[in-house]
Amino acid sequence: MVNLNSISIIPIIISGVIFFSFVYLVIITERQSKAREKLQRSLEKLKKAYDDLDEQAKIIVKKDLELNKTQEDLDKKLNSLYTLHKLSKAISTTFDTEKLFAQIDKSFISELGFDKGLFILTGAQGQKLSLPVTVGYSQETLEKIKEVLKKKDVLSRIHQPLLVDKSLSYDSLNKELLETFALASLCAVPIISQEAALGLIILGNDLPYAQVTEGDLEILSILAGQIASGLENARLYEELWNSHQDLEKRVMQRTRELELANEKLTKLDKIKSDFVSAVSHELRTPLTSIKGYASILMAGKLGEIPESVKERLEKVNKHSDSLVKLVNDLLDISRIERGKIGMKLEELGLKEIIDEVVDIITPQAKEKKIQLSVDAPKEIPLCLADRVQLGRVFTNLLGNAIKFTPEKGKIAISVKENEDHFNIEVRDSGIGIAEENLANIFEEFYRVDNAVNQKVKGTGLGLSLVKRIVEAHKGRIWVESKLGEGTKFSFTIPKA
Ligand code: ADP
Repeated sequence: MVNLNSISIIPIIISGVIFFSFVYLVIITERQSKAREKLQRSLEKLKKAYDDLDEQAKIIVKKDLELNKTQEDLDKKLNSLYTLHKLSKAISTTFDTEKLFAQIDKSFISELGFDKGLFILTGAQGQKLSLPVTVGYSQETLEKIKEVLKKKDVLSRIHQPLLVDKSLSYDSLNKELLETFALASLCAVPIISQEAALGLIILGNDLPYAQVTEGDLEILSILAGQIASGLENARLYEELWNSHQDLEKRVMQRTRELELANEKLTKLDKIKSDFVSAVSHELRTPLTSIKGYASILMAGKLGEIPESVKERLEKVNKHSDSLVKLVNDLLDISRIERGKIGMKLEELGLKEIIDEVVDIITPQAKEKKIQLSVDAPKEIPLCLADRVQLGRVFTNLLGNAIKFTPEKGKIAISVKENEDHFNIEVRDSGIGIAEENLANIFEEFYRVDNAVNQKVKGTGLGLSLVKRIVEAHKGRIWVESKLGEGTKFSFTIPKA
């Protein structure tokens, strides 16, 4: 049996359950909505984080691309610099423009990153147009380019490096350049040396994607500078070479002229010697007769002659003697010169020859109270000389020394032995010779215009003869002197 009390409790329980379930449902629903909100917020946060990440990824990719591009540019620049370095080495070792431009070939242009290239030279005055380097152009296109360059002044309008690209601003010059050189992009760099424009470098590409950059322009500016200095060096070298050639030509011409003049002088000298020798010969015979007749007359062989005539005959005899001496000296000079008088070389004691001459000359020295000394080693080897001619050398030198030394002066002869010759000096304390006259002293008939020469007669042949005799002995003679202080003649004679 169901208890009534328990039946009445059931609805209460049910409504209780429903109530609590409802409350529970309300709580759950509220919790769920809170959780959903939270989830939504987290989701939004996550989305934002994702967006940020995406943004950053994009930046990284962009940066990476940029880095790659910079790396590429750097590699290109490095490559170009290396290529330029090779060229500058070649430029520094040649002065030949042909060789210089031969280095710039297809591979050089493509190493710099270009398809086509043209090097245009105009010369310093712009009058000579040439294309020493052409890469990537057909002959036909080159002819067309030349025609345009001759007609239009495209080159003179480019004063500094220029970057021309279809994508860049497109002014009339740019358009003209791209059309003239049949390119889609190009670098135009003038070659300038010492303010003068020598030409232009055009390098470019005809494909639109291979664009030129500022970096290319920098590299090409360096290249243009190198070419300019190469051309300048070649020009200087050519100038130097030309002036060297010119100089050599002039030297050769002068040498020829001198040779001809020398030949003429030798001929003239021979004519003079022949003349002197002929005249001297012709003079000698009548002179001998004059002397002979004068002697006969003086000796009274043709009858007694008055004293006054005798005096004059003595003068005739004396003058004839000096004329005979002059003629003999003249004859000897020309004979020695022409090798007609051979030196009769023999082994001689130098001291002995000197003493002989000193003996003869001492009375003259004494007359002027001149002190005469000889300084020669006691034991000296023999010399190799012609006795008579060597005697003439000493006679002439000592005769002059006495003539040009005032009273109470000094004359000293010294002999020094050397390896294969003797060094002989004749020194005096006489009037000396002025510097400007020293060079002429050994010339024939040369006499210094001084007080002694105005008083004392002379021929000006003595030293000329002495020089020829010394030289015929393969010796040397020279003079040192100071005006008013004295003179020193030195000469060499070979040892036996
Ligand atoms: P000469 O004595 O006949 O004039 P030389 O040929 O011997 O001819 O000499 C040429 C000239 O050189 C002399 O006239 C003289 O002016 C100068 N001379 C030569 N020897 C001496 C000397 N010892 N001192 C000064 N002058 C000299």
